[in-house]
Amino acid sequence: MTVELICVGTELLLGNTVNTNAAFISEQCAMLGLSMYYQSVVGDNAGRLERLLCVAKERSDVVILSGGLGPTQDDLTKETAAEVMGKKLVEDPRAKQEIQACLEKLGRTITENNWKQAQVPEGSKVLYNSNGTAPGIIMEEKGTCMILLPGPPNELIPMFEEQVYPYLRALQPETICSKMVKLCGIGESAAETKILDLLDSQKNPTVAPYAKTGEVHLRVTAKAEDEKTALSLIVPVEEELNRRFGDCVYTDDPKVTLEEAVAMLLKEHGLTVTTAESCTGGLLAGRLVNVSGISEHFKEGYITYSNEAKEKLLGVSHETLETYGAVSPQTAAEMAQGGAKAAGADLCVSVTGIAGPEGGTKEKPVGLVYVGCYCKGKVFTEKKQFSGSRSKIREYSVANALTFLRKVILDEAAGK
Ligand code: ATP
Repeated sequence: MTVELICVGTELLLGNTVNTNAAFISEQCAMLGLSMYYQSVVGDNAGRLERLLCVAKERSDVVILSGGLGPTQDDLTKETAAEVMGKKLVEDPRAKQEIQACLEKLGRTITENNWKQAQVPEGSKVLYNSNGTAPGIIMEEKGTCMILLPGPPNELIPMFEEQVYPYLRALQPETICSKMVKLCGIGESAAETKILDLLDSQKNPTVAPYAKTGEVHLRVTAKAEDEKTALSLIVPVEEELNRRFGDCVYTDDPKVTLEEAVAMLLKEHGLTVTTAESCTGGLLAGRLVNVSGISEHFKEGYITYSNEAKEKLLGVSHETLETYGAVSPQTAAEMAQGGAKAAGADLCVSVTGIAGPEGGTKEKPVGLVYVGCYCKGKVFTEKKQFSGSRSKIREYSVANALTFLRKVILDEAAGK
């Protein structure tokens, strides 16, 4: 089955909005085993959208649209798609009720154009929206299916996961199952080299590597007549990946993030952690705070960007800073030690580096980062050299600090 994606919105064409919906939907369709051959972005223009829809309808079995379902004049997706599919718009009473409830809850004044969103193409399946006012739509007509989704990602993502994914899955003659083996502490090419034989010989299941910032994700996908058979094909490959990558595997759950995996380890071992950050300026603490319930294990963190702050808050010695500099293993170690002491935490992970673009020297180039970790009386440090923009270097530093923290906890638990 082929699927095509059309994202509607002039703001996408102008580059004002990054098309994250396209990335999300494409990934979901790949997981479903659907073949996506075309993707387009079109502005809020009925004529151009109509021409595009006519072409898409001819060449693809399923056409997914995102955006343009709002209440204003320039939101044209539903009206245009209904016309192309030869459907009249009718009012959906439940959609009307939900729009009213949603706007009342938000304390917004209801205007006449809000009821435009309660109009749906006749005979369509309505995807009610618990995060906004625009309902999604599934329209089927003579072998073509059009799926209309609201533009805001916080509305589109849950609607897709809860309503569209199961719908598309049921359309597939075969069941597609996939698992995600997520790795940290290994680069993409090193990871790929370890599984070249699996990548070369693969048919069913397939293994696809995806490089993320400081992580590599391996998706294992199998097709079979039912879910049980598909899973039974995946299990041996997943086991083999676990065997080859060992401790680098932090989860096989697609929803679990690196910070969540670290939080689970802190919980499992009853540990508290603090952060002592220089070049990452709070990003590391921010990643930890992404995890709900982390307050049991992360109570405070330190942003010590200047040398004075490193001395004042973390007790880094003036001599260390003078002799070795702020970006050095000695400073990273003292930051970690001092942070743990100041916060009374079992662990402290520290980051100090040169995020650039200025400030690099021959000895200490931009992208040089030291990560430290204090754990129960011992301090470990690691040197890294990253490249890229200032923000990329900071993101890599954070991913690396989380990976290092995880490694120290695992080593400590294993008595290494
Ligand atoms: P609304 O009901 O809020 O009017 P809509 O379905 O009409 O939603 P749009 O008006 O097209 O959607 O977009 C609303 C907002 O959603 C945009 O300003 C943008 O922030 C976000 N958005 C739209 N399309 C995308 C996209 N493809 N990727 C990421 N964000 C998007």
